[in-house]
Amino acid sequence: MAQSGEGSPPAKRARLTFGETIEVLVGAGKRSFTVHKDVICSRSSFLKAACEQWMKERKPVELLDDEPHVFDLWLQCVYLQKPPAVENHAVTFELLYGTYILSDKLGDLRSANLVIDEIVRLNDKAKKLPSIEADALAWSGTPANSRLRVLLVDYFVLELNASTFESCISMMPVDMVVAIAKKFRFLKENNEHRKGKEVYWKRVSSQPKCHYHQHDDSHPSCAKSE
Ligand SMILES: [Zn+2]
Repeated sequence: MAQSGEGSPPAKRARLTFGETIEVLVGAGKRSFTVHKDVICSRSSFLKAACEQWMKERKPVELLDDEPHVFDLWLQCVYLQKPPAVENHAVTFELLYGTYILSDKLGDLRSANLVIDEIVRLNDKAKKLPSIEADALAWSGTPANSRLRVLLVDYFVLELNASTFESCISMMPVDMVVAIAKKFRFLKENNEHRKGKEVYWKRVSSQPKCHYHQHDDSHPSCAKSE
């Protein structure tokens, strides 16, 4: 996960060309994708290294632990510069979670930020969480410092009532329950110092723009890149 790039000058974006393609093999079945080298190699140091390997040995980039469908959605983010639009609401969040996790794993913070904004927007529109199964799966698929984990904790603390939380708790990973309890404790302590009203009633969709984002030198904060 990236650290904040506050205070660093915005990185210059390289000029892209579309004359050369690269092969990416995805999933256990090694589904082949042909993508523009410059487009994906500019996205992260991980992909840049994989592309250099391609240039030297013509060895395809392999993402064998990832789902081809989710890779397809990530490509939509990269090429279209917007989050994937998925029709079925029950599937939407699961796929968006998957796309976020893949973007984060690849170090493509621009796509990760696009997708997490879409998760916040859809949640605000639907006024509910997708399913505890999807949330628990997303939790288990992310590192401890993931911004998606911060978002999930905020949903359970700031958006849900006690009975919904109670019905979900048996399906949550233990460290997710602990993180939610810690956030409640944090808010309680703030409340005791008369700061609680500011924190308790700030809904997920009302948080500052970059609250759930990641930024680094290659992915400057939204204010700097506008
Ligand atoms: Zn941002």
